[in-house]
Amino acid sequence: MRQSNKTAVKAKSKAKSIQFASDTFPADQLNELIALPGVHVTGGHYQFPETDGNRVGNHMDALFILEPITENDEYVSWIVDDIELWIEDNNIGFEVVFAPAQPSAVRIVQELVKRRKKKAAFWQYLPTGWFGEKLVEGSINNGDRVLVFNSVAQHGRCVGERLPAFAEQLGGKPVAAAVFAKGTGNGVVAAEERWGEKLYAALQIPIEVSLPDSCTKCKEGNATAVPWTHFKEAGSEA
Ligand SMILES: [Zn+2]
Repeated sequence: MRQSNKTAVKAKSKAKSIQFASDTFPADQLNELIALPGVHVTGGHYQFPETDGNRVGNHMDALFILEPITENDEYVSWIVDDIELWIEDNNIGFEVVFAPAQPSAVRIVQELVKRRKKKAAFWQYLPTGWFGEKLVEGSINNGDRVLVFNSVAQHGRCVGERLPAFAEQLGGKPVAAAVFAKGTGNGVVAAEERWGEKLYAALQIPIEVSLPDSCTKCKEGNATAVPWTHFKEAGSEA
């Protein structure tokens, strides 16, 4: 049954503009996940990743945070059920699932590789939201086909460019990419063009991304970009 681009039920006013990106994920399940407190953070001005030394985070008008979802085993199971349907529908063959060592991604990937009897490999992930520089768990063998995963592609470069490049550095061959939620920025468009049907997302979240130097809200002078880390604890509300 095709239901793409169907708008989510207005379970909460702040969830109204989220789109369903998967044809197969049951709508009632997605609506339950979106409505959990602390998942879809809107109404403010946010910085992601958090500025760390000379690495400056982008400014955003929304955040999507998966930890309140992935602390529940049943919710993780729903997500992996739908990723498995996509894998089967698209005949995606892979030896390794490669993801940042970020708690919600680790939780989903571990369930996926357990079911599919595949390997997991995790790249260093810093608490500020930046990628690190090395593999911290698992391995990729030369020539392994790699399914790249991230929980949320806020602006898309993670699954369009950066994680595939890390996998290649390790000798792997990226063959597909999956995220639970993708944003709407240029990086997401580029990832969609790169992967086509080999890019999975359950949801598409409207997220306006600005470079700090050219952020209109900040230039207007009445906004401060609050680091996303203020919102990553489960259940916190914007
Ligand atoms: Zn700003």
